[in-house]
Amino acid sequence: MIQTANPDPSLIRLALHGGAGDLADGDNDLMRQSRHALRQIAEDVCAELRRGVAALDAVTLAVERLEQCPLFNAGIGAVLNRDGQPELDAAVMRGADRGCGAVASVSRVQSPVRLARAVMEQTPHVLFCGSGAEQLARALGLTMVEPAYFITPLRLQQLEHARRRGAISLDHDTGADAAAVSSDSGGGFGTVGAVARDAYGRLAAATSTGGLTNKLPGRIGDTPLIGVGTFADDRSCAISCTGTGEAFIKAGFAQAIHARMAWHDWDLQRACSEALASVQGYGGRGGCIAIARDGSLQLPFNSNAMYRAWSAADGRVHVAVRADDAD
Ligand code: ASP
Repeated sequence: MIQTANPDPSLIRLALHGGAGDLADGDNDLMRQSRHALRQIAEDVCAELRRGVAALDAVTLAVERLEQCPLFNAGIGAVLNRDGQPELDAAVMRGADRGCGAVASVSRVQSPVRLARAVMEQTPHVLFCGSGAEQLARALGLTMVEPAYFITPLRLQQLEHARRRGAISLDHDTGADAAAVSSDSGGGFGTVGAVARDAYGRLAAATSTGGLTNKLPGRIGDTPLIGVGTFADDRSCAISCTGTGEAFIKAGFAQAIHARMAWHDWDLQRACSEALASVQGYGGRGGCIAIARDGSLQLPFNSNAMYRAWSAADGRVHVAVRADDAD
């Protein structure tokens, strides 16, 4: 483990994702806005990390900001279930001690990731769902909202389209079989996540999502499952996923990467690519962002695009969407 008592800015790493999926060709305004939002948030969070903020605070802040941005499938702008309702999932995890918290199927808490953090810090439990999670949020004084707060015209349109096709879809799919979802949706954008290594060498991860468009009410994906869609352990890596949650769950995604790194000494690249191959084997698409304890970064995906921003050893923020995007 690379950990220091005094802050060393050269240790700082950050990666964000805004979801993965198969995008139709071309670029558009919403895509540009999403890239801009990712860059802005990544730059702000990097500045916080340089001020000495802990990795856990950095990833919570990044995901909260992404939840507030209607372009992504989390918080405001989350996709809707079959009944037209938002049901939001989120999780956070700290690598130093595996402290973690998660919430599933909430629709009245302004920031699901803040509630996940409160679960971690203010309860003896790890995962809350539905009305119990909302009762907890109220008791802890978190900001509450009506479900309508999260609903945007784009998501209503995507739901309508998915219902007509009888599909349950990744919100960012605008490729061949989803091309009719408003061509101006820019791919609809996705689940959000952040992983960081702070100036002390500590890792953390956070993820937040509305799940899949037209999902059955009560369905929960990989995002709030610790060791699947969200994970951090200072002995191996920090991971946040996006994609077909069911396949990531079957692959035991993040825990599989951790196990190969911690027990078999694999590097992050090999462990991620093996885990993603397993997701693909279960019929899943998507990707992850991951930072290893040694500071190496991986942002692999098996769809044609994943919204992502990162800052590696050069300290600069890079943003990309498709596989061959330069920056
Ligand atoms: N992984 C999320 C889920 O299955 C969806 C996504 O990443 O867009 O709930």
